[in-house]
Amino acid sequence: MLDYLIVGAGLYGAVMARELMDAGKRVLVLEKRDHIAGNVYTKKTEGIHVHVYGAHIFHTNSKEVWDYVQRFAVFNRFTNSPVANWKGELYSLPFNMYTFNKMWGVVTPAEAAARIEQQRRAAGITEPKNLEEQAISLVGTDIYEKLIKGYTQKQWGRPCTELPAFIIKRLPVRLTFDNNYFNALYQGIPVGGYTKLVENMLEGIEVRTCTDYLAERERWNGIAKKIIYTGPIDAYFGFSLGNLEYRSVRFETEVLDMPNFQGNAAVNYTDAETPWTRIIEHKWFEFGKDEEGRELPKTVISREYSSEWRPGDEPYYPVNDEKNTALYARYRVLGEAEENVIFGGRLGEYRYYDMDQVIASALERAKAELAEGA
Ligand code: FAD
Ligand code: UDP
Repeated sequence: MLDYLIVGAGLYGAVMARELMDAGKRVLVLEKRDHIAGNVYTKKTEGIHVHVYGAHIFHTNSKEVWDYVQRFAVFNRFTNSPVANWKGELYSLPFNMYTFNKMWGVVTPAEAAARIEQQRRAAGITEPKNLEEQAISLVGTDIYEKLIKGYTQKQWGRPCTELPAFIIKRLPVRLTFDNNYFNALYQGIPVGGYTKLVENMLEGIEVRTCTDYLAERERWNGIAKKIIYTGPIDAYFGFSLGNLEYRSVRFETEVLDMPNFQGNAAVNYTDAETPWTRIIEHKWFEFGKDEEGRELPKTVISREYSSEWRPGDEPYYPVNDEKNTALYARYRVLGEAEENVIFGGRLGEYRYYDMDQVIASALERAKAELAEGA
């Protein structure tokens, strides 16, 4: 008899498995895909760790989480600094003094602030009611038109006037020369790829890949005292209350016979006409070199297309709108009534977690679980 059967070998499942195993519990991990690591999975192609389910940059303000991941990987000094390409004009992201200088020729923070204020006043916005108004009041009309409007419409599939203001507030606006996309204290990419990081977390723990828990649920329930389920909560309940919705992304990945395609890990295409939102060139997450420090002759790029999710598509971003939040709340009630099952992670809790948040959440849950059993 197992103490815990863990469904899903993503970060939530892997952290849970590590913590419970280290506390002397008997655990088994099931994974329906043919590989571990969930959506942070990286696959080596031409010596490059390709981020198969989308680019992942580890960033956190939590010293506890940062110290924890150091146990399983060395992190490089990668800092995310995407470039925006608007019809061939290049701008620095997030919005900072380099962006303002390129856009307007301004040199000092005071000049940049005055330009933004002038455009905000001309637009007559006092209280921003939607994303368009919020964006203009943060950075002015020029930046909104060139760097925000087209990108956001492609990403969300609806006009900026119909999107909530808070989406754009995630992006830093700085009157300093600082191209770091995140405000986090710690940031980097695990040397050797994310798959290796998760492999190290799961060391000594039995994992069965290509195994769908839901296909043989009775059998698995019979061999474990408790289940930790990190798959979609609506699938667990057979979609009995209806489907939870997601936003989906399609990746078109290509190997190119050249050493350098775009000179940066991420380039956002911010005009409305280019069909993809951005291009990722994976080798730049590791400075263009392999683990022995050798330059790589080829490169791998992924074009990202944002799309409406349909049942059967890979679920990516939970849609935390009113309708889906209400439906999730009903599934959650069902989940709480399920004795001996813990629902966790991005799909189990239907929540847009960053990696550090998913790790923090699993660590906390494992601690509570062990305290309860003590
Ligand atoms: P998952 O990684 O989805 O793992 C769940 C696992 O359960 C999967 O492997 C799945 O196959 C398995 N499973 C499901 N059902 C079953 C079943 N019935 N039987 C067996 N196995 C099952 N975070 C950051 O911090 N930085 C970033 O830059 C970043 N970029 C992102 C980009 C994209 C496009 C996306 C979608 C997310 C990004 N994230 C980023 C978030 C990050 O991917 C998640 O926080 C993290 O992967 C969630 O881990 P998880 O274990 O909860 O879920
Ligand atoms: N955004 C934009 N132009 C860019 C990058 C981002 O307009 O070049 C907007 C867009 O609306 C996006 C939001 O800023 O949804 C938040 O960006 P972030 O990169 O945080 O989005 P994520 O892909 O992480 O959800």
